[in-house]
Amino acid sequence: MSTLTTTRIREHASKLGMTHLTDTISELVARAEADQMGYLDFVDLLLGEELGIREGRRFRNALKLSGLPHHKTLDEFDFTFQPDLEPRKIRDLATLEFIERHANVALLGPPGVGKTHLASALAVAACQAGYSVYFTSLDDMVRKLKIAEATGRFNRQLTSYLRPSVLVVDEVGYLPLDRAEANMVFQLVSRRYERGSMIITSNKSFAEWGQVLGDDILATAILDRLLHHCDVLAINGPSYRLKDRLTLVPKGEPMP
Ligand code: ADP
Ligand code: MG
Repeated sequence: MSTLTTTRIREHASKLGMTHLTDTISELVARAEADQMGYLDFVDLLLGEELGIREGRRFRNALKLSGLPHHKTLDEFDFTFQPDLEPRKIRDLATLEFIERHANVALLGPPGVGKTHLASALAVAACQAGYSVYFTSLDDMVRKLKIAEATGRFNRQLTSYLRPSVLVVDEVGYLPLDRAEANMVFQLVSRRYERGSMIITSNKSFAEWGQVLGDDILATAILDRLLHHCDVLAINGPSYRLKDRLTLVPKGEPMP
């Protein structure tokens, strides 16, 4: 290929925002020649490479913006450690069909059973599939909404929690809320209802949400919307955090 043509292709690719092609055109042409590629296969290669790079970049950026505490995946989850949790149920959720339906997922159970791990893994999968994702703890979200309210930016802050296709709200129930705070949660849940998915984790059963939210009527109104379209997974096995320590404690002795 003449230098003139290569230069022009690079300029055009750059103007079209095809940055990968700008950098790799000579290498791709050499590959096409070596493999004696047909015209269609070559165009397919160029577009496939460019798209792959772009998707990878988009995925990395989306993960950065998602606020996820880590990027653990389902492959890193040891299902044998939670025999009561059906892997099939999680695999079904990982098809992300619930996001298309604007449905929710609730992961309930005591500390250390993998609620945040599974919520994050589903969120990473959603992110990879091109959905926008945001992760927050309930306390952090409420704290930010309160600050926003005090400075006249409540709606803008609320909108930032309404926009993502998937909102992960972690650790519902760790700290009790007052009525004004619970009311903010109600606004969020009712505005996302049938519009976008939520994945929530909680160490409290739904029956205890009245106490958590400081108001039974508000709790019922929130649960009504949250649970209308919701897969609920209760994980009641052992804590993975204590896994190694449990094996060190001889039977009958008190836990450290
Ligand atoms: P929870 O949110 O239920 O308190 P986490 O999801 O934070 O628990 O899990 C605690 C730690 O143990 C994390 O590092 C998580 O990755 C790990 N973990 C929990 N369950 C499993 C499991 N079944 N297989 C592999 N790692 C697990
Ligand atoms: Mg957790």
